[in-house]
Amino acid sequence: MTTLTKDAGTPAPADAGAFLSVRDLHVSFKTEDGVVRAVDGLSFDLARGKTLGIVGESGSGKSVTNLTILGLHNPQFTTVEGEILLDGQELITARESELEKVRGNKAAMIFQDPLTALSPYYTVGRQIAEPFMKHRGASKRAAWDRAVEMLAKVGIPNPKERAKDYPHQFSGGMRQRAMIAMALVCDPDLLIADEPTTALDVTVQAQILDLLKDLQQEFGSGIIFITHDLGVIADMADDIMVMYAGSAVERGTTDEVLRAPQHPYTWGLLNSMPRLDSDLAMPLTPIPGAPPSLLTPPSGCRFHPRCTFQDRVGGNRCVTERPLLGPDRASACHLTADQKHTIFIEEIKPRLG
Ligand code: SF4
Repeated sequence: MTTLTKDAGTPAPADAGAFLSVRDLHVSFKTEDGVVRAVDGLSFDLARGKTLGIVGESGSGKSVTNLTILGLHNPQFTTVEGEILLDGQELITARESELEKVRGNKAAMIFQDPLTALSPYYTVGRQIAEPFMKHRGASKRAAWDRAVEMLAKVGIPNPKERAKDYPHQFSGGMRQRAMIAMALVCDPDLLIADEPTTALDVTVQAQILDLLKDLQQEFGSGIIFITHDLGVIADMADDIMVMYAGSAVERGTTDEVLRAPQHPYTWGLLNSMPRLDSDLAMPLTPIPGAPPSLLTPPSGCRFHPRCTFQDRVGGNRCVTERPLLGPDRASACHLTADQKHTIFIEEIKPRLG
């Protein structure tokens, strides 16, 4: 396994091979109704050239985690504790001027909606060129040439001419390609892609995923790929971390998590996912209930109000005792390893087809 995440409760020392190391991260927001604990004790590492898929429903803390890594949270309302080391640099305590040198240079983000990330007032070429001038000290001419080169790399036809266009003159798929070009223009070590294909149709989605994989080979960036859809990252990620209500509930290599998932929440995500090869007569089974409020999260296992397996654990343990994630391949659940294996093979797998 390339991305090693350790025990959320007792975070292990950072993996020596990692260039991004997140340790015991806690992020909370002050609201009128109280404190929202959006991320609650998260630890993971990422190595250069590898992809970590972070999966979970809305409100699981996946996007907050990644905005926090880039220092894009509002410090007035947000409390951040823990450690985020990027190439040895601590980001939580870094000054804004230091974070500005990191963003767009060492680390960059691709958002779900390029229209909100690209300015409508400037040409696409200028927006790609700008971070190259800012971080690399390039001249206007050299940065423009680099922008045209990047547009060509991401597959925009006639890039010299299209660089002069404004974002509204691009299709949705082309805008997403332009945002990828902007994110990669300074050859960042870390690329965070937050649901980058959700707004695109299936064909364009597949093209963008292929493009990201090709560019990763060329640039060697580590990628954090955030999605609510396990299917999207099946052949994109080296490792998967499943998040629920602010913490990781399962992690492993992509193969391990998709072939032998161990956590009832991951089973629920897989059960609710449409598959091209499954029996059409087999109905999809949504996870019952809704994600909990992080103002007043449930006691014990945060998934217990929605979990149909807690009676197998026995007693009141799921309600009173919070399960923690163990090291390496792990799931935060009180079921024994044998129970997880048997339930998956006998009850879950047949439903997945
Ligand atoms: Fe379900 Fe209990 Fe496991 Fe939580 S700890 S996922 S409630 S069985």
